[in-house]
Amino acid sequence: MKDLQELFVHFLRDIYYAEKKIAKTLPKMARKAESADLKEAFESHLEETEGHIAKLETVFELLGLKARGVTCAAINGILEEGDEIISEAENGDTRDAGMIAAAQAVEHYEITRYGTLVAWAKTLGHKGAIAPLEEILDQEYAADKKLSSFAEKRLNEEAA
Ligand code: ZN
Ligand code: FE
Ligand code: FE
Repeated sequence: MKDLQELFVHFLRDIYYAEKKIAKTLPKMARKAESADLKEAFESHLEETEGHIAKLETVFELLGLKARGVTCAAINGILEEGDEIISEAENGDTRDAGMIAAAQAVEHYEITRYGTLVAWAKTLGHKGAIAPLEEILDQEYAADKKLSSFAEKRLNEEAA
């Protein structure tokens, strides 16, 4: 990676790959979710994720680049771990708890990447890229917050 511009493009490709993987995984998670709220959250985040892919494509276009992903070992690892948690859970309730945790790991990865991409778009003067990347970042934060509220609700229900 010779300079920040190259690193920026690399990170864009990394998250593009990650978003596509996430879009493939979310329907499976929605199908396996026991609670209707969680199912709905996965379905609505799938719609948002498809929007993220489209927004990234506009950023590539803006930079005069072809939209293309590069393998992201981090998201592959996070999703693989999620798969393990899901397949090993002995009941629906435990599986839901595991899926919330796995999905939050995904959101946190996305948040760190988009946070960096926004900062670098500013540094590099890619003015048109800032807003779409910030919009995605906001949706990732909101998705994470929603998952946190589900996790808390579960704890409260258990305590009651
Ligand atoms: Zn996303
Ligand atoms: Fe990555
Ligand atoms: Fe996300």
